[in-house]
Amino acid sequence: MEKFKYMEKYGFEQLVFFHDKSTGLKGITCIHDTTLGPSLGGTRIWHYENEDDAILDVLRLARGMTYKNAAAGLNLGGGKSVIIGDASKIKSEALFRAFGRFVQSLNGRYITAEDVNTTTKDMDFVHMETDHVVGLEGRSGDPSPVTALGGFHGIRASLKYKFNNEDIDKYSYAIQGVGKTGQYLMGYLFEAGAKKIYFTDINEKRINEVKETYPQAIYVKPEEIYACDVDVFAPCALGAVLNDKTIPTIKARVIAGVANNVLADETKHSKMLKDLDILYAPDFVINAGGVINVYHELHGYVREVVMKDVEKIYDRLMQIYQIAKEQNVDNQKAANLFAEQRIKDIHNVRFNYIPR
Ligand code: NAD
Repeated sequence: MEKFKYMEKYGFEQLVFFHDKSTGLKGITCIHDTTLGPSLGGTRIWHYENEDDAILDVLRLARGMTYKNAAAGLNLGGGKSVIIGDASKIKSEALFRAFGRFVQSLNGRYITAEDVNTTTKDMDFVHMETDHVVGLEGRSGDPSPVTALGGFHGIRASLKYKFNNEDIDKYSYAIQGVGKTGQYLMGYLFEAGAKKIYFTDINEKRINEVKETYPQAIYVKPEEIYACDVDVFAPCALGAVLNDKTIPTIKARVIAGVANNVLADETKHSKMLKDLDILYAPDFVINAGGVINVYHELHGYVREVVMKDVEKIYDRLMQIYQIAKEQNVDNQKAANLFAEQRIKDIHNVRFNYIPR
């Protein structure tokens, strides 16, 4: 892989490889852009086929965090770490402390958090060696309810934009995946008066939990969720669920959920949704509640302030829909433009040297 060519193309700042002899830790941290502030993004453990796969993953994920953090109005840049290996075999206190020391060596240019295959408990070990870590036990807590709340505000904004009315009780919904976020989202929707919610999952336990808590919710098989005759489709499970096969079957006029990377091909499928006149809430904007939640750990966590900040997802989506309309671009593109514009604007006001 031609790393510098790739870094030049997308404006990456730093790619750091680290190895610890005693624990066998092999990791990579990528800092994409720190215009807005220190880079922040989680640490993922994955059994990559080869080193190039790991490098490409960390580059891609770090850049994604730049856009997500910028669009969420946070003073954070984008970064990410990957640790190479089988999570079921390599996790230990020593490994995470060795990792924490490498995070510390970056001197605050990168702040880590949990991600796929790492937990808040693992981050407690990281914290023994560095303060540049968030999402710790006893601080901002489980991000899922906050992410789901952001999703709820995003649905309101999308309804308002699409139908000029955001009364939750006037519409019907289909939720794909009733895990940590999906169940909270269902709760918020029912609480706001939603009459009809279809849902699906592949996990029997989760399905039963929902049937017990919300007997009024209607279960459908996983493959049936796309074609449900509803107003809003909320993906809260996996990535790449919006693709050539599923998009033509979707009846909902609004797609707004919290799952990551839902478009199989960002450019092609966002355009396809635009052409079908389906309003798509860009995933990295509507699902920013989790990162907004941990961000507040850096400035003293006050729940009410966090909730107010999460509510701003409503206004941001409105701005993005407006950009899409004015520039006649699809919503994913508009969200990217929105994030890039914020980075550009802040870069411009901070060009001069002011000691503090
Ligand atoms: P989760 O694992 O708790 O829930 C996901 C659910 O989806 C599970 O119940 C799983 O059984 C179900 N599922 C998997 N494949 C499915 C399929 N083919 N059809 C139907 N259901 C299926 O995860 P979560 O924390 O709720 O996260 C859901 C999505 O939201 C993920 O894409 C995640 O990256 C994203 N997200 C989560 C947060 C957060 O705070 N938890 C923040 C931002 C983004």
